[in-house]
Amino acid sequence: MAAQLTLEAAGTVTLAYRRFAMDGKKRTVRDRWFDRAEAAYRRMFEDKGHEELVTLTERETMAQSIAKDLARFLLEEQVAQDPAAEPDDASSTCCPKCGEAGMPAVEEGKKLPERTVTTLVGDIDMRRQRWGCAKCRIVFFSAGRPTGSGDGGL
Ligand SMILES: [Zn+2]
Repeated sequence: MAAQLTLEAAGTVTLAYRRFAMDGKKRTVRDRWFDRAEAAYRRMFEDKGHEELVTLTERETMAQSIAKDLARFLLEEQVAQDPAAEPDDASSTCCPKCGEAGMPAVEEGKKLPERTVTTLVGDIDMRRQRWGCAKCRIVFFSAGRPTGSGDGGL
């Protein structure tokens, strides 16, 4: 368990969302992915891995923790690139009460609200436009028109 906590703390400090390189250039998802993969490798095979990872259970726990961390990263980045995060066409959204097209609640160019979603690999943060319906006086998140229940839509 101590090894897992160490990993999470290290990941937070050294890797979490380094969006810019030392030269100020924006780092790509691919850059950040390689950083994370490199750190995961080092955590497992270098650093204090040899001292901390002795039993099979410790190694198994570490490998699983690393895999979950990498999976969360992939999922978060994939979800962030989804065009449904901020659809250009308001008519692609609909009010869950009346079905009418929503109006964007966050102005263009402003930061979208973040929310945490629980997934198979843990909690991830995602940003989505919020939509308002003046008629029903509600605000909602929407990925678009309903496609049926159980589709796992965002
Ligand atoms: Zn409505």
